[in-house]
Order: sequence, then C-alpha cells, then structure tokens
Amino acid sequence: MPERPLHISLVPMLKDNYAYLLHCYDTGATAIVDPSEAEPALQAGRRMDWRPTHVLDTHHHNDHCGGNLGIKEKTGAKVVGPAYDKDRIPGIDIPVDEESGFTFGAHPARVLFIPGHTKGHIAFYFPDSKALFCGDTLFSYGCGRMFEGTPEMMWNSLLKLRALPDDTQVYCGHEYTEANLRFAVDADPGNDGLWRRQAEVQRIRAEGKPTIPATLGEEKKLNPFLRADQPELKKRFGGEERPNHEIFGALRAAKDKF
Ligand code: ZN
Ligand code: FE
Repeated sequence: MPERPLHISLVPMLKDNYAYLLHCYDTGATAIVDPSEAEPALQAGRRMDWRPTHVLDTHHHNDHCGGNLGIKEKTGAKVVGPAYDKDRIPGIDIPVDEESGFTFGAHPARVLFIPGHTKGHIAFYFPDSKALFCGDTLFSYGCGRMFEGTPEMMWNSLLKLRALPDDTQVYCGHEYTEANLRFAVDADPGNDGLWRRQAEVQRIRAEGKPTIPATLGEEKKLNPFLRADQPELKKRFGGEERPNHEIFGALRAAKDKF
C-alpha cells in the first residue's frame, strides 16, 4: 500500500475542459489525465517540479487526448488509454482494459469499461485515493452525450460507476455543473437537494471557482441520470413498466432538447 494518497490537482484547459495532474509521492510518477493540449499540462508539472511520466486517456476525443503527442515529445511520458480504441488514441504506448487494470506508481487503478459516449470509453478508479476519473461519461448532475453508444450501453456504464463507494471523488472531463443543474431541477423538481445545490453552484461559479470534484454519494442522490430507475423519474419519462435503460434514454433525449 502507498504511504500517501495521490496528489490530484485540476488543470483547466480550453473553454470548460478539466485535465488533472496526478503525482505518486512514493515513486515520483506523474501523470496528466485527459490533456486537451500539451502546454498547460507541462506548465502544471513544472510548477510542482514534476516531470510527467504518463498520460492517462479516458477516450479518443481530441479535447481529451489532443495534448498526448506534445507531452510525449517533451518528456517521453508513456500514453495509457483504452485498448478498445488503441487505433484512435494518438501515441498510445500502454493499452489497458478491465482485465489488465493499470498501476500508476504505487497506486493500482481499476480500469472500468464504460462505453456509450464513445464505444471504447474507460474510467480509472484509484481505491486507495478514493478517486474516479470518468472523462465524459458521468458529469456532476449530468452525463455525456451518446455519440457512439446506445442508451442501454450508457445506462449500464453509469450503473457500474454508481456501484462505487459514496465517498468516491468524481473527477470528470468538463465544468458543466451549472447547466446540468438547470436541467436536473426541471426533470426532477421534487428532489429538494437540487434547489439547494443549484444556489451553491451559482455562487461558486460566480466566483470563478470549479465545482469539481463532485462526491459520488451526492450524485447518487441528485443526478437524474443515475436515478432513471427511481419511481419519480420513471413516472415522468416513460412509465413504471418500461425498462430502466429506456427511461434513461428518454431522459437523455430530453436533455439534448432542453
Ligand atoms: Zn468526449
Ligand atoms: Fe470532452
């Protein structure tokens, strides 16, 4: 077991992307998760005097791996990404899946296969640091669009994330929290916690601060996309007798039009 949990800090990129700087104090290993671009990632490393040894990619979209080659060129970092999409991840060195998992420094990560946003999307979950890096699958009070997958795929992926412990910190790919809450209060108006949280989030964003990480336990209570199997939402989005993934699909379609 590592002596200390991972260092994790946010590295904002582009308009609303979050990459993350990870550091293992036991071994000195340093990673950038989902770098849209190389320069801000390299700068974040330099500020701490840490040289990136790894890049971790959750999926093939350019706003999550556009920085791979630049970081590799400057540091020799190894690129770790979904085996399923190894042909679409620039510069991939270490393809991973649920079977292989991945150990970063002294920290073993579970790799979770969570297709839906893309067909090969993965998450990295570090139990010893209670940290989940889930790219564009789960957002705070929202979820990603289904560009390549079906509602059934995406719903099963969200169930896999929902099964993790409540005290898991959720490090997602974008700052979409405020817009997600506008839809969430509309979709699930009886869920009182949403109104309280909306006021808080508006204040945090007005101060220009991030709302990430989110806490998974809180998401389980408030995120409508993790609650598509709850009676209130089933009633509003298709009816008790419909399968949960169809309710989820109707909810996602409503968000697309919102
Ligand atoms: Zn994406
Ligand atoms: Fe993205």
